[in-house]
Amino acid sequence: TADILRLESLQVHFPAQGGVFDRILGRPAVAVRAVDGIDLNIRRGEIVALVGESGSGKTTVGRVITKLAQPTAGRLLFEGHDVTSVQSLSALRPYRHRVQMIFQDAYQALNPRHTVFDIVAEPLRSLRLAKGKQVTERVSEALASAGLNPPSDFFARFPHELSGGQRQRVVIAGALAVKPELIVADEPVSMLDVSIRAQILQVLVDLREKRNMALLFITHDLPLAWLIADRIAVLYLGRLVEIGSADDITFNPRHPYTVALRNATPQIGSNADRGELPALQGEVPSAASVPKGCRFHTRCPLAFDRCKSEEPPALEVGPEHTSVCWLAK
Ligand code: SF4
Repeated sequence: TADILRLESLQVHFPAQGGVFDRILGRPAVAVRAVDGIDLNIRRGEIVALVGESGSGKTTVGRVITKLAQPTAGRLLFEGHDVTSVQSLSALRPYRHRVQMIFQDAYQALNPRHTVFDIVAEPLRSLRLAKGKQVTERVSEALASAGLNPPSDFFARFPHELSGGQRQRVVIAGALAVKPELIVADEPVSMLDVSIRAQILQVLVDLREKRNMALLFITHDLPLAWLIADRIAVLYLGRLVEIGSADDITFNPRHPYTVALRNATPQIGSNADRGELPALQGEVPSAASVPKGCRFHTRCPLAFDRCKSEEPPALEVGPEHTSVCWLAK
């Protein structure tokens, strides 16, 4: 299947705020390497999970794809067209129509003074996709697809009159109303009760079935990624360290970081197949001081000399499965 979206060597660096001493001593401002050279493709109708801890750069990747942040290098291709430098509102309109974002905090995302109808109708109106009666039809359809039935019961309600799960469904309906071809969902269920999570995930999976919609699902939760995704890309400190099918990444991980992530989640696999690697130590280093060599070496239980000086390339370890580690082969 053709790629709907492709990231090529994508980079987002920004200058860090230097301290007073840095300025007095004339030290140059350091760069924060939030996203540090990412190659990733998403196919039409595919669900790709982008998995990483906080500070890995995963939200920045989502913001670049939805044009809320501008990359400092690399390219963003949508259906083969380079949209990296598209920035004017009018030029962005067709793109916004086709690529939508769902944020994690439905409370923040919804205007408390607007009714559900107005919230879901807003993107239709601002992107000039529907008028008059059509708006009502599209809003009804979107609410129904997001599992809010019967839709008309929700038209006049305000966000504070809804449960957390219903609010997240309204956010999803707002994204769906414009009939996008790709949705970027940033931790869409992390604020919800476990009992409601499965229902919301089901809504997203159904959309792929019914509309062949592609989804980039951003999460810190590997078991959740396995549940929903076809492929998983593991992000560490601004770089993808492993990409593969959801099954391979979960049950046959080939990067020590992925192995550590899996070992941190008791839900997956048995103790027997878990291997000998100890759990992860410490925090993700700051993106303003990315370690030399393999960026994971400061936390890797298998690190050896070469890892401290030379950055490993992406090595193919199986069909559609790559790992960025000297030991991957
Ligand atoms: Fe660990 Fe070295 Fe592999 Fe990096 S390259 S993940 S430090 S073994």
